[in-house]
Amino acid sequence: MINGRVLVIAGSDCSGGAGLEADQKVLAAHGCYAMTATTALTAQNTMGVKGIHVIPADFVEKQIQACIEDVGVDVIKTGMLAAADTIEMIARQVEKHNVTSLVVDPVMVSTSGAQLLPHEAIQQLSKHLLPITTVLTPNIPEATLILSENGYCELAQKQILSVSDIESMGRQIQALGPKWVLVKGGHLPFRFDMTIAKAENEKEVVVDVLLGPEGQVFRVQSPYQSSTSTHGTGCSLASAIAAGMAKGIDVPASVRSACRYIEAGIRSAPKLGNGNGPLDHFH
Ligand code: PLP
Repeated sequence: MINGRVLVIAGSDCSGGAGLEADQKVLAAHGCYAMTATTALTAQNTMGVKGIHVIPADFVEKQIQACIEDVGVDVIKTGMLAAADTIEMIARQVEKHNVTSLVVDPVMVSTSGAQLLPHEAIQQLSKHLLPITTVLTPNIPEATLILSENGYCELAQKQILSVSDIESMGRQIQALGPKWVLVKGGHLPFRFDMTIAKAENEKEVVVDVLLGPEGQVFRVQSPYQSSTSTHGTGCSLASAIAAGMAKGIDVPASVRSACRYIEAGIRSAPKLGNGNGPLDHFH
């Protein structure tokens, strides 16, 4: 049985750990029907990105139209968008087809340091896509880039961030338009505030902060796992959220369940490749 149609607009990772390949595995694992519009081909593996071939925006547009006009779509999820004109085109398509559920993972730079979105395209992302986004899932470096490009410099430049700083960053990003913002704390292996740290036996935790349209604030806590199997975790998390939404689950519950899915996927990751390998998508 198919539980919702999800169109992923993103780049391909030929080694299967991130990008469209990861997205499709996550959506299959959640029982959803996955469609893809490819924005770029990458030649990469667990060691890094060897090359990027960007697909012209008008051909990405043809793929999006082919999917939506025939099969239809419940949720669109975007990942690596590769080019500024692709971003503008996606915003036009989302509006044209009245798509009301849009999950945007603002992919900018890979863990290995490859530029997956030209820096100047952050303006287009902010201007065209953020105002129509349902759930935006930046990590701390992405949140920092979005904020500094939009003139919010104070928190963007702060070296050590607390959980409430992350909340404030999320709120500032929300002012740019997204209904829900999930700021992912995985890049800051910090300690949570002392009361919770003690209750948790001083174990290190990662805190993701979800901010909602009516001022809701949810903190989702996961044990910090020191692991090299984190390639594609951002793509996989956003796809798991999109899967929940495609099944009609509300955003906070979709986010919580997606965080648990990623936590378990890192724990049971296969040993693949010689570098930063993928998590386990089927568990
Ligand atoms: N390659 C592609 C095509 C992606 O879409 C992404 C993430 O969104 C990455 C690479 C980044 O993967 P990571 O930084 O997890 O290694």
